Amino acid sequence: MSGLVLEGISKRFNNVAAVDHVDLSVPNGTFVCMLGPSGCGKTTLLRTIAGLEEPTSGRILIDGKDITKLPAHQRDFGMVFQSLALFPHLNVGENVAYPLRIRGVGKADQVKRAEELLALVDLGGFAGRPVSKLSGGQRQRVAIARALALSPKLFLLDEPLSALDAKLREAMQVELRKLQQRLGITTIVVTHDQREAMTMADLVVVMGNGRIQQAASPVEIYRKPVNSFVADFIGSTNLLPVRQAMDGQGVSAPGGTIPGVALGAGRDQATLSVRPEDVHLVPADQAPLTGRISFIRDLGASIETFVDAGGTQIVAVTSPRERAAFQVGDTVGLRLDPEACRVLSS
Ligand code: ADP
Ligand code: MG
Repeated sequence: MSGLVLEGISKRFNNVAAVDHVDLSVPNGTFVCMLGPSGCGKTTLLRTIAGLEEPTSGRILIDGKDITKLPAHQRDFGMVFQSLALFPHLNVGENVAYPLRIRGVGKADQVKRAEELLALVDLGGFAGRPVSKLSGGQRQRVAIARALALSPKLFLLDEPLSALDAKLREAMQVELRKLQQRLGITTIVVTHDQREAMTMADLVVVMGNGRIQQAASPVEIYRKPVNSFVADFIGSTNLLPVRQAMDGQGVSAPGGTIPGVALGAGRDQATLSVRPEDVHLVPADQAPLTGRISFIRDLGASIETFVDAGGTQIVAVTSPRERAAFQVGDTVGLRLDPEACRVLSS
């Protein structure tokens, strides 16, 4: 395959398996967001891809060529760290041109290329400014421009936007995605922000405990999480313990039954995941699953209704119109769209 391939990559530190048998294929031009809780091995995996850590086992291939043993500086990858690591004693242009300078590119070409790169990140005319006079977002752009100076084959960013405030971060997510699309460069961004991942990625890689839990498109990750770790980590979901219903029609859950859902062969119990927006409130006699409303949170544009169904809490997110008939304390019917119900393997 042309692109990046990780084959059975593991990285141990003493007895800690920071990265544990990771297999991943990334076609050229893909924007990947790697997501997962703190300590799950994201940085270690990125540093291993960059050549800054040597894997304990496994292989890394680029366009079919094994680069596992290739030193970092020969990989021609661009990298942006959370800390940015800009040189404070160099001005903006010199920072961007730095990788060119150490490659022995002539001064005039350095200046020209730095100007092009700065224009690319909307900082045209900033070359002569001291880095210390820039805002957080501008520094971010300088770090990105510098990482792109050598036209890298692969662009690796470790939580590049986490230091920015929410508004700027959202703007930069869109900028980064546009820039990547314009350049067509394979990009891997580590983030712990799932909104960020859903905004930018072609491919979302969810990590947990050093392993890839799921790698798929944002929509598939959201709609078809493979396990409860992914379902719970990406967006919010209701996780219900369910059993095969006695009459074979659907499944039984705390609070009643859910028609139209099958557990699959050989199983008599499982965890069912259903997103709050796929739970609909109806009068109690109109659904075989019922519960009592314990709390209503009115968010203006939408309403979250918390329902106690046989001791399990189910959250429904509805439009203000849909819930209008119900109050705290009412018994309501819960209609779950069978298509939106996921029976999870673990
Ligand atoms: P993340 O970036 O997802 O927060 P890391 O890759 O930084 O996770 O860390 C994964 C695990 O590896 C953690 O348990 C961390 O303590 C451990 N780890 C990372 N780097 C080192 C190191 N250089 N030496 C020892 N342990 C490390
Ligand atoms: Mg990290």
